[in-house]
Amino acid sequence: MISLKVVLEVKGLGLWGAGKEDFEADTTTFRPKLPAGALSGRRCVVIPGAYVKGLIRGWAYRVAPLLANKGLITTSTRGLNKCWIKETCGECIVCRVFGSLGGTPSPLEVTNFYAVKPDRVKEVAELGLEDALEREDLWEDAQVLVLTHVRIDDKSGKAAEGGLYEVEAVQPGATFYGEIRLYEELLSSLESAPQVKVEEICRLILASLAQLNFSYAGRRSRVKVRVIGADLGAVSEDALSKALLDGLRR
Ligand SMILES: [Zn+2]
Repeated sequence: MISLKVVLEVKGLGLWGAGKEDFEADTTTFRPKLPAGALSGRRCVVIPGAYVKGLIRGWAYRVAPLLANKGLITTSTRGLNKCWIKETCGECIVCRVFGSLGGTPSPLEVTNFYAVKPDRVKEVAELGLEDALEREDLWEDAQVLVLTHVRIDDKSGKAAEGGLYEVEAVQPGATFYGEIRLYEELLSSLESAPQVKVEEICRLILASLAQLNFSYAGRRSRVKVRVIGADLGAVSEDALSKALLDGLRR
């Protein structure tokens, strides 16, 4: 298994939510109860793992052709140019890693990202996410601001009817911890599917993750991505993966 222990530090306000993708709608921060035992049933602000995985996938579509052009990805490149999230091809490297509609199961797991006390991040990483969630003292009761907005009608220049809406935002500096795991055995379990090289997948995941530093990672939200622990397993000697990881450790 390849695993990454990842910290996302929110720059500016962090807007994530379960609301509609349309920005001009009420959004509510995703705040599930932690697993039994943790935080005495208190709720913790979370960035859903599926959301983070979607962000990384979006970048993988842009990064994969660049790596392929340089000969750094050579397997499962067919279909890359026509594949997209809403119309997955099922055969390109992005589909193999992130899954495709009605296709092969994804060998990549991205956990939820939990608001963690910034000075306890190391401890959380040492324990591992599942064990750390059993501890009440490691997680932050992240503060959420409710911002009220008024939508202005373009024609009249006045407040639009029903144009009052609220957005919940996580405060700047909030720190989130989650883990990314690639289960290699799931890749080889499907004999009919074209084979992919694990080191090429590792390069793709690390290069795509790094892109989150230079793009929005939520609605108008920016984050600093840091990998504070990693096990590259069988590909720990891959020079490009090591270089990408070094960049993400800073
Ligand atoms: Zn595809």
